[in-house]
Amino acid sequence: MKKFLLTLAVIFVTMTAGAKTPKYVFYFIGDGMGTNEVAAAQMYLADVEGVIGYKPLCFAQFPYTGIAFSYAANTFITDSAAAGTALASGKKTNSGMLGMLPDRESAAESIAEMAKKAGKKVGIGSTVCINHATPGSFYAHQLSRNNYHAISNQLAESGFEFFGGGHFSSAHDRRFDDGGSYKVAEDAGYTIAMGYDEYKANAESADKIILFPQQEGMESLKFLIDREEDDLTLAQLTESAIDFLMKDNKKGFFIMMEGGKIDHSGHGNDAASTVKEVIDFDNAIQVAYDFYQKHPKETLIVVTADHETGGMSMGSLGQYRMNLQALQYQNMSEDAFSTHLEELGRKVGDVLTWEEVEAELKEHFGFWDKVRLSKDQENRLRSAYVETFGMGESAKKAEEYYSVNKLSDLAVQIMSEIALVGWSSGAHTAAYVPVFAIGAGAENFTGQMDNIDIPMKIAEIANY
Ligand SMILES: [Zn+2]
Repeated sequence: MKKFLLTLAVIFVTMTAGAKTPKYVFYFIGDGMGTNEVAAAQMYLADVEGVIGYKPLCFAQFPYTGIAFSYAANTFITDSAAAGTALASGKKTNSGMLGMLPDRESAAESIAEMAKKAGKKVGIGSTVCINHATPGSFYAHQLSRNNYHAISNQLAESGFEFFGGGHFSSAHDRRFDDGGSYKVAEDAGYTIAMGYDEYKANAESADKIILFPQQEGMESLKFLIDREEDDLTLAQLTESAIDFLMKDNKKGFFIMMEGGKIDHSGHGNDAASTVKEVIDFDNAIQVAYDFYQKHPKETLIVVTADHETGGMSMGSLGQYRMNLQALQYQNMSEDAFSTHLEELGRKVGDVLTWEEVEAELKEHFGFWDKVRLSKDQENRLRSAYVETFGMGESAKKAEEYYSVNKLSDLAVQIMSEIALVGWSSGAHTAAYVPVFAIGAGAENFTGQMDNIDIPMKIAEIANY
């Protein structure tokens, strides 16, 4: 009997190992994308069509789903460095630390590094700067996420074949006389492509490549809500990573792509930008899904988030309804609207009239025109106008503090009130994050997990 059981166990192990080892692994991380952000995007898409319900995103239809905790080693509410490290290495660390353990000495090996050792090609991409916390967690080991220069140097040392995202932050740190991050990367054999066209022209001949936006110094890709036609997108990064890594590929690849700006709009409690950024993240995942359809037995796609941002909730102000469709009338992010107002102010010599501001709010938020405001909301906008433009000094202070002016801050706040979306914080929260998976080994990603379980499962399934 014992022998029989053992034989069965051997057969079972052989069967699962043989059938389920993905050659191609995609790991998508939505920075700040909690369960409600995903729900909001899908309910928004239904609401704009006048339907009460939801219109499913691609990744939300993946057959295996779970939920995960995001806490760090030293706090319930993590930052993106500790969460990135957990999702990259399967090790909890303290907030602010990148790819290092709390003992401050040991490096946490990432699954990207393990994949490389296992002979896979590796691609890392993000909508924020490529040496930011989440992408950095996959190739860097630093006591502080703010060591941008050192992080970009470790990018060059990684040898990973593909990188794509916003330009290096702190590319030219005067404390180092190494010629700056671009030169260090080029010396290590990387071709640097500025924009999608330049990437296309160089991809064939390059051994290793970094794809940046065409605009010099642009440290993040634009929000979907602000995007213009030629702007680089996360979907293009994903497509480029696949194409580049499939060049004479024998052993497969590991690709990590981050939707890094869901977090930014979450910090600003900017509901429209957040919802649209989740949709943009889905557009990138759709590219991976198309690849999966061509290689269904050899591909695994895992989608999750590092933490939730903003404490976004569905429903507020004691009402039993939602009005998510109103978000369609906002056509600029809080950040972009703030910059836009400042530029307008400069043009007309720093004093915008209320009528001019009113016209801007109408055009970029649909206020009064498409979206009715209460008397109270209008009064608050007027006093924010006075504070921003009418009283020089205090307006400037508010700007420095929030980094966006009071008026755009209030505009998105009122937009959330109208849509009946609630926010509990301007920072991260400890809320559950979702996990979605499809493909070879995807059945392992169900139920309640800790964030560190996710990379451990990937490494085991993919044989890293
Ligand atoms: Zn954040």
